[in-house]
Amino acid sequence: MGSIWLGKCVVICAIAANQAEAKEHLVHSQADFAHAVRQLQPGDIVTLADGEWRDFRILFQGHGAPGKPIVLRAQTKGRVFITGDSNLRLAGEYLLVSGLVFRDGHSPTGDVIAFRASANAPASHSRLTEVVIDRFNPPDRRKEDRWISFYGQENRVDHSHFEGKNNAGVTLAVIRETGQPPDDRHRIDHNYFGPRPPLGANGGETIRIGTSEQSLSDSHSIVEDNYFDRCDGEVEIISVKSGGNIIRNNVIHESQGSIVLRHGNGNLVERNIFFGNGKPHTGGIRIINARQIVRGNYMEGLAGTDFASAIAVMNGVPNSPINRYHQVQDALIEGNSLIDVARITLGAGADAERSAPPLRSRFERNLLIGRAGEVDLRVETDIAGIGFAGNIQSAASVSRLTNGIDQRSIQLARASNGLLYPVDPAIGAVGAPRDLKPIARADSGVAWYPKPAATKPAFGTGATIELAPSGDALRQAVARAKGGDTIRLSPGRYNVDAPVTIDRAITIAGPGPAAPAMLTFARSSLFQIAEGGQLRLEGLTISGVHAPAAPGNVVIRGGMSPMASSYTVEIENVRFVNLDGAPGFDVIATTPSAFADHIAIRSSRFENVSGSVVAARGDGDGHYGVEQVDIAASIFRKVGQVAELSRGGRDESSFGPRFSLRDSDIVESGLAAGASVRLSGVQIADIGGNRFTDSAPIDVTHSVGTPGTRIAGNIFRHTPMPAVKELYFRGPPRAALAGNVAEGAN
Ligand code: CA
Repeated sequence: MGSIWLGKCVVICAIAANQAEAKEHLVHSQADFAHAVRQLQPGDIVTLADGEWRDFRILFQGHGAPGKPIVLRAQTKGRVFITGDSNLRLAGEYLLVSGLVFRDGHSPTGDVIAFRASANAPASHSRLTEVVIDRFNPPDRRKEDRWISFYGQENRVDHSHFEGKNNAGVTLAVIRETGQPPDDRHRIDHNYFGPRPPLGANGGETIRIGTSEQSLSDSHSIVEDNYFDRCDGEVEIISVKSGGNIIRNNVIHESQGSIVLRHGNGNLVERNIFFGNGKPHTGGIRIINARQIVRGNYMEGLAGTDFASAIAVMNGVPNSPINRYHQVQDALIEGNSLIDVARITLGAGADAERSAPPLRSRFERNLLIGRAGEVDLRVETDIAGIGFAGNIQSAASVSRLTNGIDQRSIQLARASNGLLYPVDPAIGAVGAPRDLKPIARADSGVAWYPKPAATKPAFGTGATIELAPSGDALRQAVARAKGGDTIRLSPGRYNVDAPVTIDRAITIAGPGPAAPAMLTFARSSLFQIAEGGQLRLEGLTISGVHAPAAPGNVVIRGGMSPMASSYTVEIENVRFVNLDGAPGFDVIATTPSAFADHIAIRSSRFENVSGSVVAARGDGDGHYGVEQVDIAASIFRKVGQVAELSRGGRDESSFGPRFSLRDSDIVESGLAAGASVRLSGVQIADIGGNRFTDSAPIDVTHSVGTPGTRIAGNIFRHTPMPAVKELYFRGPPRAALAGNVAEGAN
């Protein structure tokens, strides 16, 4: 009896002692912090003084208690900036971090914030809340890191703001290591995941839970009430690679990619709300593996197809290795609304390897309304293993599935929650539930940090600077200009002696061909794109006549040094001449280290170019140099190649590169290179309405995925017809060639 009483006393006295000792340490220096953190008791608070903390590798270590965490917080939320070479590691248990802003720097290690100090020192029962990470990227976008790495168990990241991750590596990852307890039980909720531009390679996921190696065990993590805004990094927005997870009540807004149940079984994806607004490649949910439940989701305006269909049920690989595709079994897809969506695909990815169709699965009470009313439900495998019941599709549909999918005209009305529902009460039970409450963008993340505006280049939004020809005037004018400014050139000749660095959104405009402003340059490049650079050229003539007589000149060069952000180049009504004083003189050359989001060329002329007008060669690892190239209404005469785009590797994680060439004239081009346009590993190509004369053929090589190549309505005069090759696909080349006309002998 006495000893039991004594035991209670020890516990009670210890709690009392802890309560008595709980205190706050306001620290003003890294040394103060290191001292304070050595003596923390449950309930203690370390407060970082307002201001900038530069080059601060924070190790926050301690043992709090349930209901009495040890707290690291900002003196004022949003006024403590962690900058430079900085990161944060948590170790111990019952830790709470809040109010910090990471920006103007990058992590010197592989994580910005890690729930562990080292392999043997994880953090559990710990929480990050109201933390901001804003463009905290290394200077080289190919360097891989993660912003948040979960280790340990029962950790939480909530009400935080993540924006502008441009480099390789998932934004937030649940790491599940061999030998650790498999049951993670982490929570990721009420966060704002802001814009993440296309990475141009695998590794641009916003959230990943696990990896294939550990995927057959359950993580039991929850991702709910988050807002995903333009998360375009790659084909997987959320990559689930473990079992027993819940993805619920999230809003996915204008994000390229899908929620992908890539590995692991028994996951629940419910009550998520997708708004694609017709943006290309906006996907829904992709289903692989066993016992997945996809129910009560709302999807509107999704333009994705194939793997990025609103619902994509994949074919599996018989006896699949752990890192390939396990057969879909016992999937339940019910009560989802798919409104104004481009595609639903059953048996996606079916090929010689992925030959195992879905088994024992059900597709019930879904509301299907396609773009312009017509549902495009593609069946690419044997679907005897999917039972259909109680589904309704819009009347105009041409789907060959009729059993279990009733067809009728459906009138929709927008409800007070902002979502569309059928007016007819007789079909009120079909589709997504009425009580969905999409989280508002303004209510996600933190209240005290602004959310980003549109991400379009700011061309023409600033002042106009008039410039007359003289000495080094152009370079000086660009150096002085602010982002968004336009430099307007008077007629005359501008000789540029050294490369002009473009590190803001700059427009350089000439008066047009009637009274030309001509730029010449004496070095191996005229413009060099640097971090933050966006360049628009219009109404100019650019001559390479004074460039060095050595190979490798480039008018616009991206990637002299690695960059963190991607960039845009626009060219309209510009004439390029005399770029042939030496071999390999390119107009625009970009590399994976300086990724171009978009290169747009319109109404321009290129004459005597020894290299490529657009040169974007990828590396062997599947990184490529440009997401999208659009060329229209232009003239190419005696150019080495109109475009050379390549993407190596066998990865299926990106939507790019994409290429279009329309309504253009190509004359005596590509002869030395053996191709006038050379595309390899390009995902989408549209070449139409052009006239090729006395030129080398178009040369297209397809690698993995389902490339969409359309070459239609072109005239090939004394020019061989296009050559399309397949590297891996077994079967005839998959390009759509139509309405092309061959004229004259080749
Ligand atoms: Ca991926």
